[in-house]
Amino acid sequence: MELDIRTLSIITVVFAAMSSLGMSAFGRDHSKYKGFRIFAGAFASMAVGFFLIALRDQTSQFYSIIVANFLILLGQILLYEGICVFRGGTFGIHVISYLILIPHTFFSWYFAFLEPSVNIRIVAIAIAFFVIRIASIYEIRNHSPKEHKSPVRLGSFLFGITAAYQLFRIIDAVYGDVIANFMQANIVHGIAYVLTQMLIVGFPFVILWMVSINLEMELINQAIFDPLTNVYNRRGIENMINRELANVIRNNEPISLIFVDIDNFKRFNDEHGHSFGDRVLKEIALVLQTQLRQHDVLGRYGGEEFLVVLPETGRNNAAEVAERIRKFVAENVIIIDDKEVSLTASFGLSACEDCDPDWERMLDEADMLMYQAKEKGKNRVEYFLDQS
Ligand code: GH3
Ligand code: MG
Ligand code: MG
Repeated sequence: MELDIRTLSIITVVFAAMSSLGMSAFGRDHSKYKGFRIFAGAFASMAVGFFLIALRDQTSQFYSIIVANFLILLGQILLYEGICVFRGGTFGIHVISYLILIPHTFFSWYFAFLEPSVNIRIVAIAIAFFVIRIASIYEIRNHSPKEHKSPVRLGSFLFGITAAYQLFRIIDAVYGDVIANFMQANIVHGIAYVLTQMLIVGFPFVILWMVSINLEMELINQAIFDPLTNVYNRRGIENMINRELANVIRNNEPISLIFVDIDNFKRFNDEHGHSFGDRVLKEIALVLQTQLRQHDVLGRYGGEEFLVVLPETGRNNAAEVAERIRKFVAENVIIIDDKEVSLTASFGLSACEDCDPDWERMLDEADMLMYQAKEKGKNRVEYFLDQS
């Protein structure tokens, strides 16, 4: 089998140019995702670099060796920078990776013009590729959310296999035949090209896969979180309750539910305006959150109504929590734009101890008890004293 380097170079130009165009167009349409301009630049740099290699023996060695290798290596470093930026970090300290270009360009010039040796030039670029690809693997895995597991694996594979192959190339260049002209290099170097093509075609797929997971996560978040208060919305809290109930049933633990309704909120809106009311709701959600444990679940059930789910909590403990929150809300003022406002809320509590939890029954009970709290004068907590 023969792999012709010039033909491979031209195919690589086409792949890199396509990836560059694709990344650039996608980045323009999705400006909130960072790094696409850098990816586009990376592939463009590789495309020009491989084009110059394809011109080897037909243009000056300065362009077809020094500039060509410089651009291809620059493309690899840009990919690395793009990953850092895409991940949301800053390039910061990684900028030193560009320093690789200095010794590499020196070696490439020295062993092209002063002591010509294709083998040593191959070793020089293979070492640089190896280093930058290993760094890219580290960066693609770093800070990746668990949802990105599959594309991270694919990305690590692509950089991993192309990095590992560079070691093989180094061994071949050191111990194998002397290569008089890179255009006639053996199949080992042809395969390196094929693997590079795999990286050029596969890498955009990895990044777009991550973007599609991010979009999916955003949609899920929009579906389950309340945009005003950032706590769960009704659907979100119902999902969470189902999850908690499964735990409760499995472990036979108690669970409690608190229905919170802000008192006289209509009047409050009438006095202060709706948008001020919105900001107060936001504050209230924050206040509720600070009064809860980490694994308690808070959601906004409707307009000025919140639900609190307390896993592993029986009636008495839940009543203490509700009373603590009631007191906290009633005794503390909320300050917005230097305006001090005070509010109260009414609470209905239902609990399930040693029983098969039935979410709808618990919700109805908490809701009904909350209305009882309103009837009894508001700013109070109501719950059944007996076991349900
Ligand atoms: P009660 O003490 O009986 O609960 O009286 P209330 O005025 O709080 O109760 P009612 O159910 O009559 O009114 C609820 C009010 O909550 C009506 C509406 O103006 C206000 N509200 C509901 N959703 C929102 C919202 O998203 N933003 C704002 N600012 N107000 C809301
Ligand atoms: Mg209400
Ligand atoms: Mg109300």
